[in-house]
Amino acid sequence: MDLSASVETIKGVGPRTAEALARVNLKTIGDLLYMLPRVYENYQATIPISELQPGKVMIRGKISELHVIRTNKKRLTITQGTIRDDTGALRTVWFNQPYRARQFSEDREYYFTGKYELKSGRYQLTSPSATLVQDVAERSDASFQPIYGQKSSLKPETFRKIMAKLRPDFAKIPDLLPFTTEKPDFVRKGSRAEALFALHFPENPEDTKTGRKYLAYEELFELILAAKLNKQENRRLQSIPLAFNSRATQAIVRALPFQLTSAQRRATWEILQELERELPMNRLLQGDVGSGKTVVAALAAAQAAQNGHQVALLAPTAILATQHYEGLLELFTAVRKANLARLQAVRAKNAENTTKIPAGALRNASEATPGSDRSHTKANTKNPPRGQGTPSSNKSAQNRLHLPRMALLTGATTYKRRLKNQIKNGEIDLVIGTHALITDDTAFKSLAFCIIDEQHRFGVNQRHKLLLKSPKNTAPHLLSMTATPIPRSLQLTIFGDLDSSLLDELPAGRQPITTKILSELEQADELYPEMRKMLEKGQQIYWICQLIEESKVMPATAVKTQLKKLKELFPKYSVECLHGKMKPEEKEQIMNDFAANKIQILVSTTVVEVGVNVPNANMMIIQDAERYGLAQLHQLRGRVGRGDQAAYCYLLTTDEKPTKRLKEMEKSTDGFHLAEVDLKIRGPGEIYGSLQHGALNLQVANLSDTKLIAQASNHASEFAKNPENMLQYPELASRTQKYQQLTTLN
Ligand code: ADP
Ligand code: MG
Repeated sequence: MDLSASVETIKGVGPRTAEALARVNLKTIGDLLYMLPRVYENYQATIPISELQPGKVMIRGKISELHVIRTNKKRLTITQGTIRDDTGALRTVWFNQPYRARQFSEDREYYFTGKYELKSGRYQLTSPSATLVQDVAERSDASFQPIYGQKSSLKPETFRKIMAKLRPDFAKIPDLLPFTTEKPDFVRKGSRAEALFALHFPENPEDTKTGRKYLAYEELFELILAAKLNKQENRRLQSIPLAFNSRATQAIVRALPFQLTSAQRRATWEILQELERELPMNRLLQGDVGSGKTVVAALAAAQAAQNGHQVALLAPTAILATQHYEGLLELFTAVRKANLARLQAVRAKNAENTTKIPAGALRNASEATPGSDRSHTKANTKNPPRGQGTPSSNKSAQNRLHLPRMALLTGATTYKRRLKNQIKNGEIDLVIGTHALITDDTAFKSLAFCIIDEQHRFGVNQRHKLLLKSPKNTAPHLLSMTATPIPRSLQLTIFGDLDSSLLDELPAGRQPITTKILSELEQADELYPEMRKMLEKGQQIYWICQLIEESKVMPATAVKTQLKKLKELFPKYSVECLHGKMKPEEKEQIMNDFAANKIQILVSTTVVEVGVNVPNANMMIIQDAERYGLAQLHQLRGRVGRGDQAAYCYLLTTDEKPTKRLKEMEKSTDGFHLAEVDLKIRGPGEIYGSLQHGALNLQVANLSDTKLIAQASNHASEFAKNPENMLQYPELASRTQKYQQLTTLN
């Protein structure tokens, strides 16, 4: 069987079906074979209503009396109906699924699978899934049947018919996995043909398990192989070595207003050493929110500048880029001042001893003026930057403290052209910016090092564009920073044995954040008094909503609605809003006012999610919390607890029972633990990056299966030793390539 053949070559699939299939990305026979059944049901196991026992059950019957009840809990809807079979009738209930009321036709029979339980004194079937009886083939031989999902206009039955047509050819499906000695036993004994057959035509649950294990292995193998090949390709590139300079590093560390944590020291050292090499660094700096990644990045950036090369720091939002710019400017200015003071002290001492200090020393110190003041473009003209400077002797060049001259480049930057010229001429050492930094017309004189903050916010393409800006035939060193920790299992697979540095220690004095789930109904009694206390103490509050304006499609509270409400509730305080549709200047104004405590309650969408640092804000309220992923909730919560005051996070939910995710949030503040949980609940796409979301979500493999991962990893390593082997496996090559593109740059 040729898996690359078009679906139209299957008998009975005409141009119209083919077109419908193409629309859901099913173009080849191979695509269809890998479209696995959603679930398997044992339709012989239905139970007559009169004989039901509490627990998970399947009923075959008709449904009627469907109606939606809107509760006074504003956004909770309940859909009710009555299911009947020959033996009796039963009430069924769905929460927040109003479409259920229109889903069924009263004269058709369905299989309903759900939980039969006692609720408020009555038995009911809770949130059942439903399958049209007609969609289940009436085969008496197999009681165990695959159920395909509906894909846009394509009915489950269509898939079943196509599979039946392909069935005689299943035995001819070739294996995908290459032969090497490392192939584990169960793979050697099995075959892809058998595995796929077992999944599409199983006779019992055991069949589907074996089939899934084989395909999971295949999937992991491809993924890991792709990561290994990417790593090999990266090793063939050259980068500009950036020599470590202990004096420069020490000067900066001394000038910091705090002591580095030992985790920061260790991570910095790992990075500074690796920057010295001619192989491009490709490292992830992982550290929970507030662990102090920025200063580590600053020390690395300084090393590049010290070597006369340029650094780009890419941040996902203008607010964050601006904060980095201001923070680093302050840092390097402090270093410069401290250095000057030290030199003056040395001079004074030398004067006492009537010895002259070297002529260059002081001049060099003043040359170390970083960037400029806030209006960076103007300042650069006031203070014309020098060229790279030709040192009179190598020794003095090494010792001369050259702190980065900085610039901020966002969509809102004025005089962009002039700034871009300065970047191109090498008059700026450290450019901090947003997407504006990766546009085609931004060129560098000598970009040796890229830092990407909140790397998961960027797509591979965007990151790639930045890396291409280094001088010909070189690749820049890359440091990706993330507060969304990557579970070990992902590091090994998708990230191909990633080089990573970990900040597993928060700076001393941080207060733990108390997290509490509240139902919407408890707001008035529990939340408002707490908010009032907070405000009376002079502290500030974030209130997060999902939407900007009310919408019919999504029944969540909007920023604008909540803003009005909170203004009425807290008339004594300034309540303002922030969201993505505001102009950059407006956003910046609001953020600045919040930072300056001119605003006490900030009602915002998740635009505040990343990086924002306002230590006086110690309460975070997230409305409709069940709608966010764990990583995002954790990020949002990380906005508070940044000072030395107790901090609180309230998760408001409209769900009757809090979800597993929310309960985990309440229990743990450990980002790594939450990431592992998130991975289990939602799959890797979510963690890897919003832009790859979906593409990376594995069909069968479970990334917590460490044994299978280890086996696949061995096998892939063995195979990757001779990449030319790939030529013999064209299907594997093309599938691996797809993954390579998705996971390159790790
Ligand atoms: P994140 O890792 O979330 O990016 P930041 O780099 O923004 O964290 O640091 C958070 C805050 O902690 C900043 O105000 C920073 O100045 C401060 N900070 C960083 N390192 C230390 C330290 N070792 N001791 C005390 N405060 C620190
Ligand atoms: Mg940060």
